[in-house]
Amino acid sequence: MKKDDCIFCKIANGDFGTEFIIETNDIVAFRDLNPQAPEHILVIPKDHYDNISQITDTNLLGKLLEGVQKVTQKIGLKEFRTVINTGKQAGQSVFHVHIHILGGKELKPTFD
Ligand code: 5GP
Ligand code: ZN
Repeated sequence: MKKDDCIFCKIANGDFGTEFIIETNDIVAFRDLNPQAPEHILVIPKDHYDNISQITDTNLLGKLLEGVQKVTQKIGLKEFRTVINTGKQAGQSVFHVHIHILGGKELKPTFD
């Protein structure tokens, strides 16, 4: 299901012609607009969920992590960090669930 005012629904729908690193029936991955590392990619479901807590379909949860594997294998990224921000307090700013993949540089071991 799509949400009309959601930027990531529009991206997943191809509205902006965003280049997808991978695309399956259920998910897409694309580069972050404001990268925090040399590699900064977002993996999202095509359907709209505000956050990870709203996904009840465990198959979809698996597909999102499989997406992380597919992306990193495709670009040859062996060492990376994955982040899922849930809620404003945790730093979520786009309320369509997404997994960040960050890599290509030494990342500080911080959770701040
Ligand atoms: P959050 O803070 O919600 O965990 O992460 C949202 C991410 O989406 C941010 O890293 C931000 O740079 C990225 N972002 C926001 N709007 C767009 C957009 O229109 N296109 C792309 N590619 N990334 C976006
Ligand atoms: Zn959405």
